[in-house]
Amino acid sequence: MSAPFVTRFAPSPTGLLHRGHAYSALLAYEAAQAAGGTLLLRIEDIDATRARSEFEAAISEDLAWLGITWPEPVRRQSEHLDDYEAALSRLAADGLVYRCFRTRKEVAQAMASAPHGAMDTFRSAPLPAGEEAERLARGEAFAWRLSLDAAHVRLGGFEDLSFLEEGQGPNGESGLIGARPELGGDVVLARKDVGVAYHLAVVIDDALQGVTHVIRGCDLFEAAHVQRLLQALLALPTPVYRHHRLLAGPDGKRYAKRDRAETLQALRVAGLTPEQLRQEMGL
Ligand code: GLU
Repeated sequence: MSAPFVTRFAPSPTGLLHRGHAYSALLAYEAAQAAGGTLLLRIEDIDATRARSEFEAAISEDLAWLGITWPEPVRRQSEHLDDYEAALSRLAADGLVYRCFRTRKEVAQAMASAPHGAMDTFRSAPLPAGEEAERLARGEAFAWRLSLDAAHVRLGGFEDLSFLEEGQGPNGESGLIGARPELGGDVVLARKDVGVAYHLAVVIDDALQGVTHVIRGCDLFEAAHVQRLLQALLALPTPVYRHHRLLAGPDGKRYAKRDRAETLQALRVAGLTPEQLRQEMGL
């Protein structure tokens, strides 16, 4: 028997939801219902400097207003930092990550001064042991980055990495996609300030929660390439991906958290009904 269909809606509680979120959440919910499966709500609040509990409360309120239901308890990433640390330790023990002491500015400078014009993505290597020890002794902050070179050696290349795209990437990519993790460069897996970063938390959670289908905006298509590599390195299952188009406003621009007037809360107060919203979005 095949695994039950499990998908998730995974907002970061750093602002109010807008039409774009409603579209994504409704697509995921309808897909789960059509498959007799489940939509999980996951709160991606690892960035304690930006996440706020009132936004989390607003998310639940908005989703309930849309007619979406989900099982409790929700998974809150800030309550599971141990899971991410354990995964990071495994990667570190396998020599697949390295400490990066560079500031944002230094990363940008390194990319700009790369030979043959600018590098698209940042790639580097561990510091010589002596220099690293000195910096650690001085208490300098560092991020953990995934080493694409080490990963490439470990897996003997990336040619065997693929994922199934049942939706579409931003350029119409669909079907069996060969993963190109180099699109992301040596991604940060643990931030200097927060101790974990997006890609790592997402692959761990998707696996722990038994997510079979990732349904999300195609702005995260590139992330799937990176996440596929992490799944291989951590021996985690790969879900099916369904990236969807991004909803745009009348001005042709995609909705963003900064458009205050377009939040679901504001639309609700203005008298819009969930039915009208669905219709407007072609659902
Ligand atoms: N938390 C991410 C966001 O709000 C979504 C992550 C994902 O769906 O993989 O954009």
